[in-house]
Amino acid sequence: MTSDFASLAQTLADQLVAWRRYFHRHPELAFQEERTAGIVAGHLAQLGLEVQTGVGRTGVVGILEGAQPGPTALLRFDMDALPIHEETGLPFASQTPGKMHACGHDGHSAIGLGVATLLAGQQEHLAGRVKFLFQPAEEIGQGARAMIEAGALLDPAPDVMFGLHLWSLMPLGQAVVKAGSLWAAADRFALEIIGHGSHGAMPHQGIDAIAVAAFAIAQLQTIISRDRDPLQPAVLTIGAIHGGDAFNVLAERVQMEGTLRTFDLATRATILARMDGLLAGLCAAYGAAYRLTWRDFTPPVINDPRATAHLRAAAAAVLGAEAVADGPMMMVAEDVSEFLNRTPGSFFVLGAMPDRRARSETGPSGEAGGGARSETGPSGEAGGGATAPAEPHHSPRFDIDERALPLGAAILAHATYTWLLHSPTQQPT
Ligand SMILES: [Zn+2]
Ligand SMILES: [Zn+2]
Repeated sequence: MTSDFASLAQTLADQLVAWRRYFHRHPELAFQEERTAGIVAGHLAQLGLEVQTGVGRTGVVGILEGAQPGPTALLRFDMDALPIHEETGLPFASQTPGKMHACGHDGHSAIGLGVATLLAGQQEHLAGRVKFLFQPAEEIGQGARAMIEAGALLDPAPDVMFGLHLWSLMPLGQAVVKAGSLWAAADRFALEIIGHGSHGAMPHQGIDAIAVAAFAIAQLQTIISRDRDPLQPAVLTIGAIHGGDAFNVLAERVQMEGTLRTFDLATRATILARMDGLLAGLCAAYGAAYRLTWRDFTPPVINDPRATAHLRAAAAAVLGAEAVADGPMMMVAEDVSEFLNRTPGSFFVLGAMPDRRARSETGPSGEAGGGARSETGPSGEAGGGATAPAEPHHSPRFDIDERALPLGAAILAHATYTWLLHSPTQQPT
């Protein structure tokens, strides 16, 4: 029996890079991951897993049965790309104009296949079973729910789950493994202010929806500054506004769209209720009406303390204890939270900052980065020296350091293998 997954994973490094580059060349958008799912399912079947495809439209589930009795661990990886036109100039850049793996899900899929390879190699010592879940449509926040509705968490139901996200703004070899809130909840809303159209020269005969909308935008921020507990982070952003047709006509309607980001459901509930209360009062004061519609809620990513402690030990075994931090939280969202809401587990962030020094030495400085950016990642200390800044996720120049792939595979394999072996939920015989 071996659990030296760090060195085993290094022997897979070339294969991991080949998978990642293949996925990178052939990016597929949400719920269109047919080719990716085909490669994934083919490899899992080759390893001897029981494979199910078309779970939640384009998702894949693979079950690896250990030779020893035990509980079930779920590992989740996402597969989708983004509608972004790639500008990296990499030799394995996207071959499809307007589609790009700009979030690292190509790396996640490769890591998933790597973990399956590592654990299948230990099948005779493996306790319980591992359920591999390759998820579509993370970027539109719908893939996790689609798989859950298709029964991905049933038969067998998992006892624990683990997952990861590579992070281009965190140095290679570092990780954030954090109990409790890690990433934010995301809500999307549409707000319409309904007034009464009239001549622009005779405003007293109408109700100016633009004037009411202006008050609404300013006053909604007082919910963040006055109603929210200042120790509970929240962001309220109006990202789009449309209203009015002519310079001399009082607008009857103004449509806005925005997003709310929070970390805990109580704060979210407070803000939702206060938005309604404030808009009702404001519109009543001016004789206007409003319609507030919420959609596409993604819950916050909240990690189970026990699963997180276990995952932290695995990350420390692979990266060294000093490389594993327990923060900070970030305002981005991830629908892995749908699984974490139903199964205790832990999702971690693995540094994959590309080594820009190697590249910027060959060309004139600044060429690769496209100008200075003020993006700050989970780690401020980006490694020092005059290196080009790493590109953030969802940038057309986004890239990862592929040396993160074996690290991610090793951490997840180690965490899963040891959890199944030592889980307190395991029944004594
Ligand atoms: Zn993304
Ligand atoms: Zn992502």
